[in-house]
Amino acid sequence: MAWTDLPGIGTILDLLCPPRCVFCHADVATPARRGAVACDACVARLSRDVPRCSACGEPLPGTGICLRCRLRRVAWDGLAVLAPYADDIRDVVLRAKRPAGEGVAAGLASLLVRKHRERFDGWNIDTVVPVPMHWLRRASRGTSAAHEIARGVAAGLGLPCRRSVRRTRRTRMQNELPFEERHANLQGAFRAAGRLEGSRVLLVDDVTTTGSTLAGCREVLVEAGATAVYAAVVARADRAAAIDPES
Ligand SMILES: [Zn+2]
Ligand SMILES: [Zn+2]
Repeated sequence: MAWTDLPGIGTILDLLCPPRCVFCHADVATPARRGAVACDACVARLSRDVPRCSACGEPLPGTGICLRCRLRRVAWDGLAVLAPYADDIRDVVLRAKRPAGEGVAAGLASLLVRKHRERFDGWNIDTVVPVPMHWLRRASRGTSAAHEIARGVAAGLGLPCRRSVRRTRRTRMQNELPFEERHANLQGAFRAAGRLEGSRVLLVDDVTTTGSTLAGCREVLVEAGATAVYAAVVARADRAAAIDPES
């Protein structure tokens, strides 16, 4: 037994050095919580979202599936979103992408799990897979936010996190390209690392816009044998038609 497992030690440590919120650094009163710590104000502020289509994440006036998804299946089996890519979330995602942003990434992962645990459980996922970053870009940044968030989600769900999709070449940043060029930019950009026979995968990324990156990853996962591919993202950049989250 490690000395930190002794009853009461965690509580004493919390009293001497109270846990801080990973987002705003405020002291968090609830002692001895495991994993990333977030204050109630940040949980509420960063998890606020509009109602969305449960399949593609498009904002909807209510819950359910959008017309587009009803007419033709979307490229993945379900999408869980924490919040729209705006204001507070944008700042926090940028912090998660910087070197030493792992704490913030872990905090975002815990918010995702907190908000969508029931959906994740219902999806019967067995493997969590981060959307990959090319190794050169990863080397220059020193971190991959998607990988850190995926690790946190996997830990929260008690599942393995595997880097089962790799980038085969560097692509231009999707957000630098017009919508119509984004699909072509990713042609042949991914490959599966090993077989995934019968796997039910949860793909994790920090931000999605058109979903073409998630769709490209799904394609290689299915070719490698995955039977279901769901996705979870911290933020979805909704198009101009999106409903104002404040309305
Ligand atoms: Zn906070
Ligand atoms: Zn939809």
